Amino acid sequence: MLKEIQQAIDDLYPEMVERRRYLHQHPELSFQEYKTAKYIADFYEELGLPYETNVGGNGVVARLKGGKPGKTIALRADFDALPIQDAKDVPYKSQVPNVMHACGHDGHTATLMMLAKALKKFQEEMPGTVVFLHQHAEEYAPGGAKPMIEAGILDDVDAVFGNHLWATTPLGTIQTSTGAFMAGADRFELTIQGQGGHGGYPHETKDALVIGSQVVAQLQTIVSRNIDPLDAAVITVGKFTAGNAFNVIADTAELIGTVRYFKSETQEQIIKKMKQVVKGICEANGVSFEFHYEKGYPPLVNHAEEATLVLKAAENVTGVENAEETMPVMGGEDFAYYMLEKPGAFFFTGAEKDGNHYPHHHPHFDFDERAMPIAAKTLISAYLAYQKEHK
Ligand code: MN
Repeated sequence: MLKEIQQAIDDLYPEMVERRRYLHQHPELSFQEYKTAKYIADFYEELGLPYETNVGGNGVVARLKGGKPGKTIALRADFDALPIQDAKDVPYKSQVPNVMHACGHDGHTATLMMLAKALKKFQEEMPGTVVFLHQHAEEYAPGGAKPMIEAGILDDVDAVFGNHLWATTPLGTIQTSTGAFMAGADRFELTIQGQGGHGGYPHETKDALVIGSQVVAQLQTIVSRNIDPLDAAVITVGKFTAGNAFNVIADTAELIGTVRYFKSETQEQIIKKMKQVVKGICEANGVSFEFHYEKGYPPLVNHAEEATLVLKAAENVTGVENAEETMPVMGGEDFAYYMLEKPGAFFFTGAEKDGNHYPHHHPHFDFDERAMPIAAKTLISAYLAYQKEHK
């Protein structure tokens, strides 16, 4: 049956591309994906599969109950976009100013919809139930996965699989990890209250810009000098705002950044050390501060058995030349929450666009659309392999 399904997916490729490009032109930000959710719901309405809308927010969940007994498996695709101005020169570029599908979630959505359409033809012969889990708000913590789980979508689900098109990996490659795969991702904010003044009279001020610079520099030593070099972590200050004019000493400084990690002990160690650094530097300079640390998505840890199954299943997929275990990456993903609840695995589908190395979240981001059918086939191949192994 896998062979016939793969053919059906290939037959739907033109529609897959068309739908992906439609979504690409009409992106919506996290938690505001009303039109996208309706687009997905309308599709299932027309296809004739039962579906629910407003699941834990803007989530849409459809089901295909096969004619044969089997497990219930959720396949997840996210559908939100990012606050980025699309800088590509293509006919399908974003029509919404400052909003762009710069992570490929448009592709995930088109992939899952067309997989549903392909599977509809095989409903009688299909074992188990496919849950098409269209998740809103992946890009912005607290994210859509958690409220969708709280709404009960995983209650009767036996396993969860998810794909991410990966634009920096060659087409024809499937990658996953049998353990930690993507990092935990937190956010912090620091405001330093100094005492501004005349640029020529520094001795009468407390220069928030200089103090903020000390904090930025000292934060760099936490990972390099406090964390075991064989344990991966990142501290990035992504935004540093201080000062307004060439001859005025800054009154305040604001730092915003992210922390990435894989082990909760490491996360706690970083938080503790960051607090010490901030407090120490601010006290030494005699200024007050406010420091907020917000825990975000936990690390995405795949289940070894299901990740191995994905790699094996990928070998039966036309278009896959290489299915490999890979090193974890420091990006975050709220697919992590599903992995805390149920067995399953997340994988990357290589989607590098001929020599174009623009990474995810870049204004020139794009991916090779031929990766979409490969992703759809890998998802269903894993689904069928899981059914076989759990008869
Ligand atoms: Mn993404």
